[in-house]
Order: sequence, then C-alpha cells, then structure tokens
Amino acid sequence: MNNIEIIDRLTSINVWTSGTRRAPHKPLLLLLVLARCSRGEPREISYREVDQKLGALLREFGPPSRSYHPEYPFWRLQNDGIWLVRDAGNLALRAGHSDARKSELLRTNVKGGMTPEIYDALRNDHKLLVDVAQAILDAHFPATLHDDILSAVGLDLERSTSSRAKRDPAFREKVLRAYERRCAICGFDLRLGAVDVALEAAHIMWHEAGGPDVECNGLALCTMHHKLLDRGVFTVSVERHLLVSQDVSGSQVQLEQLLRFHAKPIRDPQSRDFMPSPKYLAWHGNQVFRKPARDS
Ligand SMILES: [Zn+2]
Repeated sequence: MNNIEIIDRLTSINVWTSGTRRAPHKPLLLLLVLARCSRGEPREISYREVDQKLGALLREFGPPSRSYHPEYPFWRLQNDGIWLVRDAGNLALRAGHSDARKSELLRTNVKGGMTPEIYDALRNDHKLLVDVAQAILDAHFPATLHDDILSAVGLDLERSTSSRAKRDPAFREKVLRAYERRCAICGFDLRLGAVDVALEAAHIMWHEAGGPDVECNGLALCTMHHKLLDRGVFTVSVERHLLVSQDVSGSQVQLEQLLRFHAKPIRDPQSRDFMPSPKYLAWHGNQVFRKPARDS
C-alpha cells in the first residue's frame, strides 16, 4: 500500500449515519490511536483503555446522548480493512448482531489496533501521519474544534495555519454581508484598515455534516462566539433566541458576559431571505448543543 492508498483507506471509513445525526466514533478512535502511534506506543490498545478514553472524547466532542458506545468503532473498524481485533472469533456476540458484547470486550480486555502494515507506515513517516490526522479532522469536524480535539487526544501536528485556510471565501463573504459585518450575538465589528478582524462566518449545521454554504445556514460571529457555538456552549432556538447550556460555568465576569445574551433574540440579518433556517437551527440544537438550556 502506498501513502495515497493509506490516506484514502483511513479517510474513506464507513461512518454510520442515520439522517443527519453525527457519528464521530470511528474518527475519534482513529485520532486516539494516531496519537499513540506518534508517541511510539504499541500498535495494539486494550479495550478498557478505549472504553475510558474514547468514552471521554465522545462525551466532549460527540452529539449529546444518553449513552455512549466506544465499543462500536472498536469492533466495526474491522470492516473497513484497517483494524484488527485479536482473537475476534472467540468473543461472544450481541444477540442478533455481528458485534461483540461490550461486557465481553471489557471482561476479556481484548486488544485491537490498526493493521501492522498501516501502523508501520504511519510510524515511519510522520508527515503521512500528520496528513491522515488532518484529513480526518477536515472530514468530520469544523476547524474551530481541531486544536481542542488534538489536545484532548494528545497529538501535536505542528501544522502551519495555511492547512486550516478558509475553505470557502464566497460563503464567508455572503454571510458577513448578510449580517452587515457584525457579530450576530454581540455586534463585534472591529476593523483594521478596511479589513474585518476576528469576524467569521459560522455554519449552523456543520459543513462537515452536510450543511450547505448558504446564508440561511450561516451566522456572522466574532471568533469567540463562533467557537462557543461550535462547542455547543450555546445554541440558537428556532425562534432565534440564544440559549446557554446548563453545563457552562465560569468566573463571574465571563459568565455574566455570556448570560447577558441568554434567552434574547440574536440580531437579524439585513434581509428576510437570509434568516437562519429552522431546519439547521434544530440540527445544531440536537447534534451540537450541550442540552439542556438554562431557564429563560
Ligand atoms: Zn460576538
């Protein structure tokens, strides 16, 4: 397998989807093992370690859920031709499924890992590992979250910022124009000369989740509010009110600055044609926002 084939194989994994629900399980497990690989740790990782570490990653970067399933990618990556589970044939399966039971994975603490061929190639070529990790991030998460995810898995890519260059300058321009070049939350509009500084076009439904590059899926936000939106610190209801998560805490000043906007309408765009679509707002509320919201 050459490098291009390896990148292709690792980025064309079959990600389970149900409608527009996010399923970041396999991408996060791969980033976790890429980090281990970059540190020179053994090829195989035990299921208990995956259960604990991937469980924490899913809670932080996955869609809010009542239960998390680190066992799914640990087992199902086998079908993508890049992953092996040791003695897989000896494990008890879930009734009516082709997956091993989570209790069985925990009890036996079975080990799994990337195939030796792929692991060795990544181990011996740091640039390849960086390219693969970047491609996985680009395919599944907005750029505002990349550094947070890398730091959570313990992977330092030493990337140049050019690799995170703005993907679609036309989308950015359309959205900033729609909001008259001001943050839709706080009104931030600092310019340096004639250039907007720290003002960004955010996707409401992530581009990585299939959200289109249109005004009604965009918000002009300052860098901070963009980041907080993508992390699920707040959402915007279909009535276009900002709602802050109950999980958010902070020192008096920072929290007050955020809560000032809670339960209040965000700024409207200059034309009704650009109004955020309820469909995309609902997606963010279900797939990104850390439910529940504080009382209004
Ligand atoms: Zn702002």
